Formats: sequence, C-alpha cells, structure tokens
Amino acid sequence: MDMEYRRLGRAGIKISVLSLGSWVTFHHQLSVDAAVKLMQTAYEAGVNFFDNAEVYALGKSEEIMGAALKELGWRRSSYLISTKFYWGLHDGPNERNTLNRKRLIEGIDGSLRRLGLDYVDLIFCHRPDPNTSIEETAHAMHDIIQSGRAIYWGVSEWSADEIRAAWSICDKYGWHKPVTEQPQYNLFHRERVEREYARLYEDIGLGATIWSPLASGLLTGKYLEGIPEGSRGALPGYEWLRDSLTDQQKLEKVRQLIPIARELDCSLAQLAIAWCVRNPHVSTVILGASRVEQLRENLQALKVVPKLTPDVLERIDQIVSGGSLAEGED
Ligand code: NDP
Repeated sequence: MDMEYRRLGRAGIKISVLSLGSWVTFHHQLSVDAAVKLMQTAYEAGVNFFDNAEVYALGKSEEIMGAALKELGWRRSSYLISTKFYWGLHDGPNERNTLNRKRLIEGIDGSLRRLGLDYVDLIFCHRPDPNTSIEETAHAMHDIIQSGRAIYWGVSEWSADEIRAAWSICDKYGWHKPVTEQPQYNLFHRERVEREYARLYEDIGLGATIWSPLASGLLTGKYLEGIPEGSRGALPGYEWLRDSLTDQQKLEKVRQLIPIARELDCSLAQLAIAWCVRNPHVSTVILGASRVEQLRENLQALKVVPKLTPDVLERIDQIVSGGSLAEGED
C-alpha cells in the first residue's frame, strides 16, 4: 500500500499520514539497534516524520534517535524530526513546566546536541504555560526558527483560544506562526480535534499531528483479559495508565468493535488507526510500537481506510459513543 502524504495544515511541507513516535518505547523498551530497525521499517514504508520530545526518557529518547539517524544515514531532506519543550530536564524555578524564553532558547541547543542534528523540522510547545505570556513564547519560537535551529513550530494540547492568540500575535508582528497542534485523538478521545478546533482548520490553516491513536494499546484489544506481561500497562513508571487500560466500559466497547474488524478483514489496531486517518483534518497519525511486527501491522491500516463507509462509521459511532460524541469521551 502506497503511503499518503498530506500538507501539514497550511504549511508547505508534506507529511506522511502515518508517522512514528518514540514516547515510552525509546530507551525504556528499545535500544539503539531496535530503534534503527523500527525506524528503517517505517522509512521503507514511506514514513517521513519521526516525533520526539526533550522529556521522553529525560533526553535519552533524543539520544537514541540521534544515534539511529547517524547509523541510518538518510538524506536529511528526506525526513522530518520534531522535539518538544515544557516539562524540562531539571528542577529549578526557570527550568520546570515552563515556556519562558531562556528555557526554550537553551532547550533547543540541548536537543540538537542529543539528536546530532543542525536543526529540527518541528518544535512544539508541549503544553501551555499559564505563567509565561503567549507573546514571549511565540517570540522565542520565532527567534529559534530565524536562527535556523528549527523550520516550523507548533503546540500540543493548547486550547483553541490559546492557539488563536498565538497565531494572532505572530500575525500582528510578522513572526513565524504556529502551523500545527499535536492533540490526542482516538476512538475514545475526540472532542478537541472534532469540535474544539473545528474553526481553526479553515481560519488559520491548523495542521494536526495526532497522538495515541490506539489509546496506549487499549484499542488493540490486548487488555481485554487483563494487563499482559511486557505491555505498556505492565511497565514500571506507567502505573497511572492502568485505570484507563482496564476501564471495563471502554473494554466492552473494544469487544463490540471486534465483529466490525472481522468484517473488514483487519485487526482492531488497524481499524482504530484507519478511523483516525479517515479524518481529513488529521495531517499525520503518530504511531507507537515496541516491536517491528506491531509497526508492520499498523502500517497496513491504510488498506482499511477505503472500507470505512458511512454505514461502517455510523456503526462505530454507535458503539463508542452511543451515537453521541460527548458520551464517548474520556
Ligand atoms: P498508541 O496509542 O498507538 O500506543 C502505542 C503502543 O501500543 C505501542 O508502544 C505498543 O505498546 C502498543 N501497540 C501498538 N501497536 C500494537 C499492535 N499492533 N498490537 C499490540 N500492541 C500494539 O500511541 P502512543 O501512545 O505510543 O503515541 C504515539 C506517539 O505520539 C508517541 O510516540 C509520541 O511521539 C506522541 N505522543 C505525544 C504526546 C503529546 O503530549 N504531544 C503524548 C503521547 C504521545 P506495548 O507493546 O508496550 O504494549
């Protein structure tokens, strides 16, 4: 199945509709060798975007991706890399949970060093920071781009109002504008992408690089009989995910999706990923995988997208939200 490329909102670059992220997996589950295999598998399937963040494994995820990129030796212009800032790596009044100018300007240099790159393609503000003015943050993002250390910037899990405020300030001063959000989007988490941001796609040309398409694995069906050994739900440090992964109401809905997946001749994971891809406002679905076989399976989700007819989508809606979007929300 050929990869599809979509514009990142109004930005000129094209991004593969399926991409690969490193949260949880790089360092905690995968070494450099395993990361090389995973990234190579993705790249061969046409994936051109690899998502990262400073805070993932406290910098180790960037180090692993950097070492993998060095080994893979791909042409720099053939792929896109991101990183994100907010939580920080150190305690200190100006280093933790902040988007202040000093932190952002210092942060990008650390990320580039760990990634072994001269620039990243996308820098994200990983969360909103109520203690720094949006103007200061937007100006710092603009300056990082002007300095050549990033190409585009975006935000993650900002409210529609915050995004619009950042865009308007940049418009007023002629600064580089945020081009994309990075929101969670999956069958159990739809409100923001489908309702809150609805106006922004048209008004400011917002892109969407969406995360956790499988709700951390819940939508694969692997948690139907409890938490399997070796899964994300069993990892030390991720206990906070367990309530959601063992939520009986959600699991019942996953169970009800099984006949639809069977009918479409696909796995539950492929059905859930295809369902995200079918939303034209989604620029890319960031996949996560702890094994190459999972990634191979998930990349085949593109075959399922044309099978999602209005009738099938309606049946899926009935299962996850009883026909009403709000009821299906987290
Ligand atoms: P998913 O919801 O798709 O979860 C991925 C995990 O599910 C895998 O690591 C694996 O975990 C399991 N899995 C995946 N495919 C299969 C399969 N076919 N069969 C069985 N198990 C499977 O995505 P993530 O939560 O990993 O998010 C994807 C990316 O999004 C991240 O890497 C990151 O780049 C980005 N992200 C961004 C955030 C933000 O705030 N901006 C927040 C979170 C993620 P296991 O095998 O260990 O059970």
